[in-house]
Amino acid sequence: MRRLIQLLKTFTLWELLKGLQLTLRAFFMRKVTVQYPEEKTPQSSRFRGLHALRRYPNGEERCIACKLCEAVCPALAITIESEAHDDGTRRTTRYDIDLFKCVYCGFCEEACPVDAIVETRIFEYHMEERGENIMTKEKLLAVGDKHEATIAADRAEDAKYR
Ligand code: SF4
Ligand code: SF4
Repeated sequence: MRRLIQLLKTFTLWELLKGLQLTLRAFFMRKVTVQYPEEKTPQSSRFRGLHALRRYPNGEERCIACKLCEAVCPALAITIESEAHDDGTRRTTRYDIDLFKCVYCGFCEEACPVDAIVETRIFEYHMEERGENIMTKEKLLAVGDKHEATIAADRAEDAKYR
């Protein structure tokens, strides 16, 4: 009897019909596929993407070269060199982040006492030349300058939940 059922299933293409039934059911379901890059999925204000260094509204660098971010980084991706100024302030002369080492944990931005180093929502970036994986201080400040409005809005949003 089992053999007969098996034979019937073979000749009626039973498995194929079952598969088509599933396809037909999925055809009318709500679509979850996103047509990237035209469509984007929602992003959290805490998204951890490309890094940026921020300035105060008067243009002064926020970073005070305390090196807490460098110390806390589990991937040893941050390299800082600094010098003291005549007015007693300390500023970085070198601030590099190696994006190939970075694991995007967010520890650096959490450790920073002055909100200087942050991770932005930017995730669409790539490298074409050797050495482009190093985000220098100039590059980090440029990202910060360009996206300050979004960064500040995200920080304000995060503050609501702290
Ligand atoms: S996100 Fe994490 S791994 Fe990347 S630089 Fe910051 S502390 Fe280091
Ligand atoms: S980015 Fe923040 S934590 Fe890192 S050295 Fe500058 S002030 Fe200190």
